[in-house]
Amino acid sequence: MIFDLHCHSTVSDGKLTPKELLERAVDKGVDVLALTDHDTTDGIPLVQKEIDDNELAIKLISGVEISTCWENKDIHIVGLNFDRNHPAMKEYLANQSIIREERAQEIGRRVEKTKLIDNVYQGAKAIAGEGQIGRGHIARFMIEQGMVKDNAQAFKKYLARGKVGYVPSPWPDMKSAIDVIHQAGGQAILAHPMGYKLSGKWLRKLTIAFKGAGGDGLEAAGCQLAPPHRQHLAALALEYDLLGSSGSDFHFPSSWIELGRSLYFAKGVTPVWSLWPDYAHVS
Ligand code: AMP
Ligand code: MN
Ligand code: MN
Ligand code: MN
Repeated sequence: MIFDLHCHSTVSDGKLTPKELLERAVDKGVDVLALTDHDTTDGIPLVQKEIDDNELAIKLISGVEISTCWENKDIHIVGLNFDRNHPAMKEYLANQSIIREERAQEIGRRVEKTKLIDNVYQGAKAIAGEGQIGRGHIARFMIEQGMVKDNAQAFKKYLARGKVGYVPSPWPDMKSAIDVIHQAGGQAILAHPMGYKLSGKWLRKLTIAFKGAGGDGLEAAGCQLAPPHRQHLAALALEYDLLGSSGSDFHFPSSWIELGRSLYFAKGVTPVWSLWPDYAHVS
């Protein structure tokens, strides 16, 4: 069975609508899907309705990718299989939305200091529409205005940590995100551990902090992970008694990231779905 438990739609910075994302997941053979938009669960009922209306066999697990701050870095925590209507979760995500709006305005002011572009927040907001605004929308506005040639360049030159448009992580700590996921009955997963570009020593430090804050598992399978990285993550999961999750972190169709692709674990990982009665025996 294929479990893709990390992906994005237009409800945050993905480019496919929840309906299009679902169709693509079905097409790619995904059996169990979690839509994990940044700091919002608003896409989940839209996907579930499509599944129900069309009597599709694919299963949807509730998901969210929560932005947190650890050691002045943005660290992402994926929440899985929780009650999206739990009042504590709703309140937490409402506050994340406020932080996102304020941060986007501040990024806009900083990028405008280059004198190369105007109305950055307004432009990005128009692209985000009803969705949760993020740096991806700001990057798209910069491309639209001819300031950069693509998303990678927007981050590299202006939006990544340390660049002119970067706002120091305004997010709450990891423990608060892990706690609210638990309050809502779910599991907290450290997203894309290899994505933070940490040294081995710092990745271990992060894993220890995450485990100490009550975290349940780490993403140990993703479509771009080389085998030695999968082995490294499996070893960390075993050493710190963490479960493994698998997810593509799909945002839009491209040749290098795809829903459901290469989501296998290195040996020894206990999957997060071992806790879910319907899938407890799926290896
Ligand atoms: P935000 O949640 O607004 O801080 O934006 C984080 C998102 O920006 C990630 O989920 C990616 O979609 C994208 N992103 C972050 N860093 C980069 C990068 N270096 N190059 C391209 N996209 C990135
Ligand atoms: Mn994103
Ligand atoms: Mn992320
Ligand atoms: Mn993501």
